[in-house]
Amino acid sequence: MKIVLLLGFIFLNNVVCTDVNTVYICDSRTGKRYHYTADCKGLNNCQHKVLKTTLEIAKSRGKTLCGFED
Ligand SMILES: [Zn+2]
Repeated sequence: MKIVLLLGFIFLNNVVCTDVNTVYICDSRTGKRYHYTADCKGLNNCQHKVLKTTLEIAKSRGKTLCGFED
Protein backbone atom coordinates (compact mmCIF):
# COMPACT_ATOMS: atom_id res chain seq x y z
CA MET A 1 0.00 0.00 0.00
CA LYS A 2 2.80 2.38 0.87
CA ILE A 3 4.52 1.63 -2.43
CA VAL A 4 1.36 2.45 -4.36
CA LEU A 5 1.06 5.78 -2.57
CA LEU A 6 4.72 6.55 -3.23
CA LEU A 7 4.38 5.77 -6.94
CA GLY A 8 1.27 7.93 -7.09
CA PHE A 9 3.15 10.80 -5.49
CA ILE A 10 6.05 10.49 -7.93
CA PHE A 11 3.62 10.41 -10.84
CA LEU A 12 1.80 13.54 -9.67
CA ASN A 13 5.12 15.27 -9.03
CA ASN A 14 6.26 14.56 -12.58
CA VAL A 15 3.04 15.95 -13.98
CA VAL A 16 3.61 19.18 -12.09
CA CYS A 17 7.25 19.40 -13.16
CA THR A 18 6.47 18.89 -16.83
CA ASP A 19 3.42 21.14 -16.80
CA VAL A 20 2.93 22.50 -20.31
CA ASN A 21 0.70 25.22 -18.87
CA THR A 22 3.61 27.04 -17.28
CA VAL A 23 3.50 30.76 -17.97
CA TYR A 24 5.38 33.80 -16.73
CA ILE A 25 3.84 36.95 -15.31
CA CYS A 26 5.24 40.25 -14.14
CA ASP A 27 4.71 40.66 -10.40
CA SER A 28 3.17 44.12 -10.66
CA ARG A 29 -0.30 45.40 -9.90
CA THR A 30 -0.68 46.85 -13.38
CA GLY A 31 0.55 43.76 -15.26
CA LYS A 32 -2.32 42.20 -17.11
CA ARG A 33 -0.48 39.80 -19.37
CA TYR A 34 0.96 36.34 -19.15
CA HIS A 35 3.80 35.03 -21.26
CA TYR A 36 4.88 31.62 -22.49
CA THR A 37 8.57 32.41 -22.17
CA ALA A 38 10.49 34.24 -19.45
CA ASP A 39 12.52 36.20 -22.02
CA CYS A 40 9.54 37.52 -23.95
CA LYS A 41 9.77 41.10 -25.23
CA GLY A 42 6.68 41.91 -23.22
CA LEU A 43 8.52 41.15 -20.00
CA ASN A 44 11.41 43.51 -20.78
CA ASN A 45 9.39 46.40 -19.38
CA CYS A 46 8.69 44.54 -16.16
CA GLN A 47 10.05 46.55 -13.22
CA HIS A 48 9.22 43.78 -10.76
CA LYS A 49 9.99 40.13 -10.35
CA VAL A 50 8.99 37.74 -13.11
CA LEU A 51 6.94 34.97 -11.58
CA LYS A 52 6.66 31.47 -12.96
CA THR A 53 3.12 30.23 -12.57
CA THR A 54 0.45 28.23 -14.35
CA LEU A 55 -1.94 29.29 -17.07
CA GLU A 56 -4.84 28.56 -14.73
CA ILE A 57 -3.55 30.88 -12.02
CA ALA A 58 -2.67 33.60 -14.51
CA LYS A 59 -6.18 33.51 -15.94
CA SER A 60 -7.73 33.47 -12.47
CA ARG A 61 -5.84 36.73 -11.82
CA GLY A 62 -7.42 38.25 -14.93
CA LYS A 63 -4.30 38.03 -17.08
CA THR A 64 -4.57 37.75 -20.82
CA LEU A 65 -2.04 36.50 -23.37
CA CYS A 66 0.71 38.96 -24.18
CA GLY A 67 0.48 40.66 -27.57
CA PHE A 68 3.98 39.57 -28.58
CA GLU A 69 3.12 35.86 -28.40
CA ASP A 70 1.97 33.90 -31.39
ZN1 LIG B 1 4.88 37.90 -23.83
